[in-house]
Amino acid sequence: RAKLNGRNNYAFYTQSLTLESVEHLKLQSALHSAITNNAFHLVYQPKLDFSTGETVGFEALLRWVDPLMGNISPAIFIPVAEKIGVICNIGLWVLNSAARQGIEWLKQGKHFGRISVNVAGPQLQDAGFFDEVKTVLEQTGLPPECLELEVTESCMMSDPKAVIKLLKKLGDLGVELSVDDFGTGYSSLNYLKRLPIDKLKIDQSFVRDIPHNANNTAISKAIIALGHALNLTVIAEGVETLEQAEFLRQSGCDEAQGYLYSKPLLPSELNKFLG
Ligand code: C2E
Ligand code: MG
Ligand code: MG
Ligand code: MG
Repeated sequence: RAKLNGRNNYAFYTQSLTLESVEHLKLQSALHSAITNNAFHLVYQPKLDFSTGETVGFEALLRWVDPLMGNISPAIFIPVAEKIGVICNIGLWVLNSAARQGIEWLKQGKHFGRISVNVAGPQLQDAGFFDEVKTVLEQTGLPPECLELEVTESCMMSDPKAVIKLLKKLGDLGVELSVDDFGTGYSSLNYLKRLPIDKLKIDQSFVRDIPHNANNTAISKAIIALGHALNLTVIAEGVETLEQAEFLRQSGCDEAQGYLYSKPLLPSELNKFLG
């Protein structure tokens, strides 16, 4: 009896695993054709200065519309791209496209501050990454100060010494560096102090329920204090309500990004944010 149950469970288990891997395989092969067919585009979300209300920059966010599956979230496909080893390829495309967008805005006399691009862990581990960034800047003509790279804590902590070296070189180039989703990873404060970073981004999971959730409110305030103690700019992401914005501003947070101001938009929709 027990054996039979066990067998049934086993059969059920493998069947669901198979369904899952079929979905995964579909996603993997769709991703490969997306790269070949250039099925990606970027949207841009403004970042605002809390004290002046002015746009200080835009975060480039990757979008993929598959002809059959429709819009697929980067939260789903980026981890798959990392797993099948195509994230560096995609990341370079993102970097190039964002830089070309920046140059186009500059040519049109539109001031955008900085364009930030998300960098995945494998890109930081890739020996060619620094030269890629340098080449993109040289080939597009985008001034390094106009580019910001967003890196997560966990990516930096996998090989801190090598990452510190890489980030130093990028910082020396003039590129701005920020730690994305800050507070959700496990950065050692000791390394944080040694990292040549310019900015902390408070993760949206903390911002979501301030000022009502006492823990997240305390954490947000602590991140602002920590950032300022280390001479870093602090930006809150996922700001959706005036109440959150007011609380963060009063707590000394420097910059904000979120649906309250704007969703990520196509370049053609961004005119009111461009100076
Ligand atoms: P992230 O870098 O932390 O980006 C912020 C995410 O929060 C974006 O989701 C953005 O659309 C969303 N967001 C912005 N404001 C609000 C708000 O007020 N409320 C809520 N609920 N959400 C808001 P998105 O575009 O779906 O991207 C998800 C994640 O995928 C990004 O998180 C980033 O980790 C990754 N990603 C996106 N584009 C790229 C890329 O080009 N390269 C890499 N490596 N990762 C990317
Ligand atoms: Mg980001
Ligand atoms: Mg710097
Ligand atoms: Mg984030």
